[in-house]
Amino acid sequence: MTNRAYIGVGSNQGDKERNCRRAVSRIGTFPETRVRQVSSWFATEPWGAPSGEWYVNGVVAVDTGLEPDILLQHCQTVEREMGRPAARPRWADRVIDLDILFYDDRVLEGPDLIIPHPELHRRRFVLAPLCEIAPELKHPLLGSSIRDLLARVEDDKRVREITAHDAREAPRSSTVPVR
Ligand code: ADP
Ligand code: MG
Repeated sequence: MTNRAYIGVGSNQGDKERNCRRAVSRIGTFPETRVRQVSSWFATEPWGAPSGEWYVNGVVAVDTGLEPDILLQHCQTVEREMGRPAARPRWADRVIDLDILFYDDRVLEGPDLIIPHPELHRRRFVLAPLCEIAPELKHPLLGSSIRDLLARVEDDKRVREITAHDAREAPRSSTVPVR
């Protein structure tokens, strides 16, 4: 059984773009999981980082047989292995942040996992990369497409594309090379 999930990737410490690309490579090694699309990388103004350090953000589409809670566990393992401390303040700088944005059209509201991600429709740094790879995707609770959510978002934080995006869908038999 294959499910389509979208994962938001972000970093505002160290070599941010490299951290993001490494995380995408790691996601491609999860069991029963293939990376299908990778957005451009964007330089984005932080929402609350105490240092004021800008982020690099992007979004990946994966096909996965992992259930959402297991997918989250794998993402958190990558966060830990890449050096993110277990306990830290909410807005703290981070070497890597992996958020599950959507998982098919499922709606989950558990103590440890909320899907769709509850903030995604308010954040230009999520909607801009997501709109590159899934403009027609519908938010299962809001009923709007990503394109419409991006057109309407009130977030005035700056978001600038820093790498070109290859719009081709990866062949079903292979993973997307990490650019
Ligand atoms: P944020 O990403 O909001 O800046 P954190 O990454 O520190 O903050 O939040 C981590 C917590 O968010 C995790 O403990 C995880 O259980 C919870 N969480 C809830 N929903 C999700 C989701 N869709 N994706 C990732 N983490 C989530
Ligand atoms: Mg997170």
